Amino acid sequence: MTALTRNPPDYNSGNAIRAFLQDRGMGIRKKWGQHFLVNPRARSLLAEALEIRNGDGVFEIGPGIGAMTSLLLEKGARVRAFEIDPGFSALLRELFSGAAAEGLFSLVQGDVLKTWEQNDDGSPYLLGNLPYTIAAVLVGSLIEKGRFFRRMAITVQKEVASRMAAKPGGGDYSSISVLCASVYDIKPLMILKAASFYPPPKVDSAALLFTRRDGEQNRALFAPLVRALFASRRKTAANNLEHFLSVSATMYPGASGIRPRDRAERLLLESGIAPKERAENLDYRAFNALADALERDGKRQ
Ligand code: SAM
Repeated sequence: MTALTRNPPDYNSGNAIRAFLQDRGMGIRKKWGQHFLVNPRARSLLAEALEIRNGDGVFEIGPGIGAMTSLLLEKGARVRAFEIDPGFSALLRELFSGAAAEGLFSLVQGDVLKTWEQNDDGSPYLLGNLPYTIAAVLVGSLIEKGRFFRRMAITVQKEVASRMAAKPGGGDYSSISVLCASVYDIKPLMILKAASFYPPPKVDSAALLFTRRDGEQNRALFAPLVRALFASRRKTAANNLEHFLSVSATMYPGASGIRPRDRAERLLLESGIAPKERAENLDYRAFNALADALERDGKRQ
């Protein structure tokens, strides 16, 4: 254990964690998806996947009682941790007071969905064993807001991982798949059986590594268009786009007098997308082309 950490529990043992929390009058809260990763090999693989070097900044989401935090600090990272549980937050401040004094650990207490933007120190890496309730929302909102990381190593429910990493054409392919693919190459790292956690969750999890691709940029129109084209999966791209253009005419105006249906078909054809195509068959490049076409169209009027 690093000298920067004070008296932590044995992070590999559910019993030790339970006793450690009981001693402090603390419990495990289901509503915050608190399942501790007690599998040491999995923790090492996750931390190593980031390939951090001394002094690199890491956003850690949901540090819990610090198992991953201490690993990251051992690797020389500067950790900015986001934790919602006030009891865990107090514990983390105590456990990592030495690292905090050296400027290597800082804690942001509260809901990360509401706190990350105001507390963004520009760290290039992100690590998190993410609770089910926030995983897709957090990753989606970071991407939509243009907050990209060099690498992100995350653990999520298996089913959420399948949607994030899905390729066009499959049933799992959805708006979050396109958003993720528009910025990152995604590699599955491992499947984590329920027994890797304490307490064990009802479903298996999967760890994913996101690596940012060079040169890809997300623009203002990309995410709204992705959401619009997936709004009704059974509808064609033209139908979904027509609806989007009708309801958001003031935000995304085109030349006056053109019906939304004609505009939708023209924009799709300009982007190389057949109007009868469905969003589930379009890759992120097609959405990029459509965002470009809509942008050009806005300037034409
Ligand atoms: N990192 C620890 C580990 O791997 O053993 C704990 C992971 S546990 C699955 C999820 C953690 O996220 C818990 O500590 C929980 O309190 C925290 N959490 C849940 N919702 C959160 C939110 N909206 N913002 C910040 N932290 C949250």
